[in-house]
Amino acid sequence: MSEINKELIYAGKAKDVYKTDKDDEVLIKFRDDITALDGGKKETLSKKGALNAVISSKLFEILVEAGVRTQYVDLVAPAQMLTKSLKMIPLEVICRNIAAGSLLRKYPFEEKQELNPPIISFDYKNDEYHDPMLNDSIILALGIATQETLDEIREMTLKINETLSKFLKEHGLLLVDFKLEYGLDNEGNLVLGDEISPDTTRLWDVDTLENFDKDIFRKGEEGVVEAYKTVVDLILTDEEKEKFYVNQIE
Ligand code: UDP
Repeated sequence: MSEINKELIYAGKAKDVYKTDKDDEVLIKFRDDITALDGGKKETLSKKGALNAVISSKLFEILVEAGVRTQYVDLVAPAQMLTKSLKMIPLEVICRNIAAGSLLRKYPFEEKQELNPPIISFDYKNDEYHDPMLNDSIILALGIATQETLDEIREMTLKINETLSKFLKEHGLLLVDFKLEYGLDNEGNLVLGDEISPDTTRLWDVDTLENFDKDIFRKGEEGVVEAYKTVVDLILTDEEKEKFYVNQIE
């Protein structure tokens, strides 16, 4: 896989961000590191980063076609996504269609309970405070975002949920829940950033409800990369696989 000969701006848990020759663009490198349990469980899984970059690119393209503003520009090499530079808002915006994960641990929902309308909630992206759940008042008091921005985040998240749920269902997958991160561009527009991949979504087979996402890793089971590969096979055409270097992922 090609080396990146650029200045590193930021290293996250699973992605690195590099400067580019353009002020308003950054290069995101999807790494093979995978973490869970608030960073307490870590591993490196070969090909994971490249597969997530492919899946994110395809889903961002679907959203762009639906008129959603995203930071995605192009997948320029395996695991290397060129994006618009954003001032990120430190919120993890979580949207749920079916009860799973922390919702079941914290509240008396039934397993696999359908959530209609979908639930949207906000976690503070802050390792020191362990990503606590926020409400609008706390977000406003901390100065994380304005009410106008929060309202726009909710509206965009619902549109993204509708668009991706429809697309994924047509390809045999249920979008159970997912996490989004937003930022502001140079003109102050709200833009979808980060990634949308099996690391940040729950994806279940529409018929069997088998899962193809990070829950496999959270549970300590084998077959994480194989499951992510299945998602690629389900949602990309052969032509798109060619365009996104899937045959070069080693
Ligand atoms: N999620 C994420 N990053 C986080 C927390 C959650 O990407 O830091 C995603 C997670 O993969 C799932 C959804 O958001 O698709 C809801 O996660 P939940 O709160 O159930 O988290 P869990 O504790 O089960 O990871």
